[in-house]
Amino acid sequence: MSAPTHKTPAPDAVKPGNFIRSVIEEDLSRGTYAQRRWGGEPGDGPSHAAGMPDPAKVRTRFPPEPNGYLHIGHAKSIWLNFSLAQEYGGVCHLRFDDTNPEKEEQEYVDSIRDTVRWLGWDHHFADDPARPGVKQPHEYFASDYFDFMYRAAEYLIEAGHAYVDEQTPEQMRANRGDFGTPGVNSPFRVRSPAENLARFREMAQGQHADGAMVLRAKIDMASPNINLRDPAIYRIRHATHHNTGDNWCIYPMYTYAHPIEDALEQITHSICTLEFEDQRPFYDWLLERLAEGGLLTAPPPRQYEFGRLNVGHVITSKRKLRQLVEEGHVSGWDDPRMPTLAGLRRRGYTPEALRLFAERSGVTKNGDAWTDYAALDAALRDTLDPVVPRAMAVLEPLKLVITNWDEAFGPGHLEPCTAPVHPHHPDMGQRQFSMGKEVWIERTDYEETPPKGFFRLFPPSVDASGNAVPGSKVRLKYGYVIECTGAIKDAAGNIVSVSATVLKDTKSGTPGADSAKVKGVITWVGAADGLPATVNLYDRLFTEEQPDAGGRDFLTVLNPNSLSTAQAIVEPSLATAQPEDRFQFERHGFFVADRRDHHARGKLVFNRIAGLKDSWVR
Ligand code: ATP
Ligand code: MG
Repeated sequence: MSAPTHKTPAPDAVKPGNFIRSVIEEDLSRGTYAQRRWGGEPGDGPSHAAGMPDPAKVRTRFPPEPNGYLHIGHAKSIWLNFSLAQEYGGVCHLRFDDTNPEKEEQEYVDSIRDTVRWLGWDHHFADDPARPGVKQPHEYFASDYFDFMYRAAEYLIEAGHAYVDEQTPEQMRANRGDFGTPGVNSPFRVRSPAENLARFREMAQGQHADGAMVLRAKIDMASPNINLRDPAIYRIRHATHHNTGDNWCIYPMYTYAHPIEDALEQITHSICTLEFEDQRPFYDWLLERLAEGGLLTAPPPRQYEFGRLNVGHVITSKRKLRQLVEEGHVSGWDDPRMPTLAGLRRRGYTPEALRLFAERSGVTKNGDAWTDYAALDAALRDTLDPVVPRAMAVLEPLKLVITNWDEAFGPGHLEPCTAPVHPHHPDMGQRQFSMGKEVWIERTDYEETPPKGFFRLFPPSVDASGNAVPGSKVRLKYGYVIECTGAIKDAAGNIVSVSATVLKDTKSGTPGADSAKVKGVITWVGAADGLPATVNLYDRLFTEEQPDAGGRDFLTVLNPNSLSTAQAIVEPSLATAQPEDRFQFERHGFFVADRRDHHARGKLVFNRIAGLKDSWVR
């Protein structure tokens, strides 16, 4: 069976309606960026600026800090930034915001890069000069701009816009004030530029210990916006950086570094989540000061905020996700229950589904909106249902023995059966399997005393008025109609197998198929050609919709039943399934061949991505 082809709309066809598009369209019609040219001093901007597309174009960026794996919230940011750039013929930068050496690692850089590529924006990537035919993301590192950031800091000091503060962290916190109280000026605020410059150089040369002093912007300690109360812009950290090694022992603060990164890369629209709204005045302040000093010449980028994606029963704090991994609550960053994109991928979610989910969740100014997890599954079903092959699988196998089989068809007879790979795509071909004297059925498809409305297998009985009730007649899907005659039990009373008789001439697709009226059709797998498979079934990782609401310890609401594993029997067409091939197991939902364990040690391993409909009950 060949790998499924996804026929969902190409990303190019996705035209999100959102307020950021209106901003971009207005900028384009006004020619805001028409005068842009790549310029500045060598080494200031991205080193490969010469090979980059027209600077006048829309330029967005996705700026993760490489301090963990990307999660489902990032999928939204990635979708938004890349799709807007694509829609307007621009470019989106993948930028690693690596200003915090103690928390950042190469492993995270690699996983982020892989994930962005997997999400399918590669047609949007640049040619890799070193490897013909290979596309790379437009990739940047904040750490590439450390020299510029340092020079910009010296400029701010010389212009009287920054000072070295030697208050203790406690003093600084106390003097910052709060929403109701203005801050108090640091006694070091009045130092001369020359003295500040000398101190700052000492900081950079490693003459002071971590935390001994910081460089702060000199703005306004009484500002109603606490972010403008002389924010710290450089701190001392005697730490080795994954890119710059031991070149630096001072590192820029995120709020200082980020606007500079955007400006040097000539980003036009700097899109971020709402929690950065209060940072925007500092973002603009800094870029204005650097423009005054002649350090930046292009029209400045502008920041726009949208409401972050919150998904029910999911946690999207990298710190908390790391805790789940490090404390062993899950098997790793790519545990299929994790909301990391590595986990969602292994679980079987597709780039198409994630993109559709992000698009449907909208782009708004509402910061408290929660999206139901069911919306992700809906996006998955809507994109997979039209394209993935079908297969039969028995998740809780119970043997069914057809007692008159040999008599009806001859001993050992195996009846070839066929079924469409996809009910609406005859071009996808037919699956082949066989029915014999013994088949596997779902344990739940047999009831000794059937409840009302149960139309699957039950044995003959006698009702309250003493009338004989025959055993049920059921069709084995794509096979014959059978009539249930009873069950065989072990000494302890457990059902070992169900017994039935076959009704000859009732095979699906033959003229006699309608000769027996049945109320139930069940799925099954032949005992002769069924294959054993391990099937992982997942439930929500947390039992509460907002696991960390109100400061609750999210570990207290971990769902103990988030993973169950079944030893299933699957139809023979699945023998050739490759890791990451996706299927609809009839009646059971959408499954993927595990990208790590499938075929490893000669085993078939499937993960349930989602059920056929939203069956999860709160
Ligand atoms: P942390 O959990 O450490 O705060 P983060 O999730 O904010 O990390 P970053 O690496 O800072 O991760 O984020 C990169 C980009 O992804 C930022 O532009 C951020 O606004 C965006 N982003 C992060 N979380 C979400 C989310 N839930 N919805 C939409 N965008 C998000
Ligand atoms: Mg963050």
